Formats: sequence, structure tokens, C-alpha cells
Amino acid sequence: MYVIMVMMEVELTDAELEEKRFWAQFEPERRHRQAEQTALWHQMHPDRARALKRSYTQKIKLEVLAHYGNGKLACVKCGFTDIRALSIDHVNGNGAQERKGLGKSGTAFYSHLKTQGYSEGYQTLCMNCQWIKRFENKEHRKN
Ligand SMILES: [Zn+2]
Repeated sequence: MYVIMVMMEVELTDAELEEKRFWAQFEPERRHRQAEQTALWHQMHPDRARALKRSYTQKIKLEVLAHYGNGKLACVKCGFTDIRALSIDHVNGNGAQERKGLGKSGTAFYSHLKTQGYSEGYQTLCMNCQWIKRFENKEHRKN
């Protein structure tokens, strides 16, 4: 990405540089114009825009999973690595309750963890280990 940008910079013609300088005088307006163009682009390419958003939320999810997987994209209990079955588990249980309390679920929950600076008490678990943990916790309460 960076390389492409540098190449574009080099290949700017005088006219383009002139235009760049011209628009630099109106930075706020230009930003506004860019925002409009971006919105237009999103309207014209809904599929591409969705894919872009998906890859962005996917990136956050991977970051959060890796953080709570102790630096690895894997279940901390069994080492399972298929991210489709990995999710964040609240170490002391009540994960679902807490998510409800926060009013966040799914991707919003992941970005919440990231923006909050990764609070303690979470771990990355695969679905198997989560179900086993849930089962075991119930058994504990009975005893
Ligand atoms: Zn596991």
C-alpha cells in the first residue's frame, strides 16, 4: 500500500501537482469533498464497501483474539486454531450477561475490548472448550 502511494507521488505530472497545491489551500473543503466522494463510492459499490467493512471488523476480531490468546490465534486451553470457532470467553463466566449489560454483541464487543485497552478477565477459547466450561460450571453449582 505504502509503495503504491510513493509510486503515485513520483508519477504525478506538473498539472496534477498544481491541482494538489490548489486544493491544499482549501483543505477543510477538500476533506468535505472527499467525504462526499467516499459516500458516493460506497453507494456505487455496495458490495465492495461491505467487503471493506467486513475486512476491517475481521481485523479487529483477529487482533482481539490474538491478544486474549496470549499472542496466538488459538484457544488458550486446547490450542485449536480455526478462527471460525474461536471467541472471547469471560474467565469468571457471565460473559453473555456482561455483553448484554454493555449493550454490545459480536463485532461491537470486539471493538469495545480493543478501545477499552484490553481489560483483564478474558481469554480466547474455541467453542468446544466454551461448551465444556459451561457444562463444568453448571456441574459445580449442583455440587
Ligand atoms: Zn479449545
